[in-house]
Amino acid sequence: PPDTAALGRSTWTFLHTTAAYYPLSATPMHQSNMRSLLSSLSVLYPCGWCAEDFARDMKANPPDVSGREGLMRWLCERHNEVNGKLGKERFECTAEKLGERWKDGPKD
Ligand code: FAD
Repeated sequence: PPDTAALGRSTWTFLHTTAAYYPLSATPMHQSNMRSLLSSLSVLYPCGWCAEDFARDMKANPPDVSGREGLMRWLCERHNEVNGKLGKERFECTAEKLGERWKDGPKD
C-alpha cells in the first residue's frame, strides 16, 4: 500500500501551491478545470478511506473555485478537517498565513 503520510504531504503541497497561483479571479475555464481536479481526486486518490471522507466533505462543502483567495481558504478548511480527524493542529486559514506558507514566505 502507498505511504499515506508521504502521499498526503505531497498532495497537500501540490494542492495548496496550485491554489496559491490560481487566478485572482478565475475564468469559467479555470473554474471547471479546478472542479474536475478536485472531484477526480475524490475518486482517484490512492487511499480509499481518505478519498471517501474527502468526497463526503466536498459534498457538504462545495469548493469555492471563484478565485485564489476563496480557493485557498476552502482548501485550508478541508485540510483542517483532516487535521482534526487525525488529531493534528489546525492551521489559521487567513490570507496572510496561507500566503506566507504557500507562496510569498514570511515578511522581511
Ligand atoms: P500535512 O497534513 O501533510 O501538511 C503538510 C503541511 O501543510 C504542514 O506541515 C503545514 O505547513 C501545512 N498545513 C497544515 N494544515 C494546513 C491547512 N489547513 N491549510 C494549509 N496548510 C496546512 N491521512 C490519513 O491518515 N487519513 C485520511 O483520511 C487522510 N485523508 C486525506 C485526504 C486528502 C485529500 C489528503 C490530501 C491527505 C489525506 N491524508 C489522510 C494525509 C494527511 O492529511 C497528511 O498529509 C499526513 O498525515 C502527513 O501529515 P503531516 O503532519 O506531515 O502534514
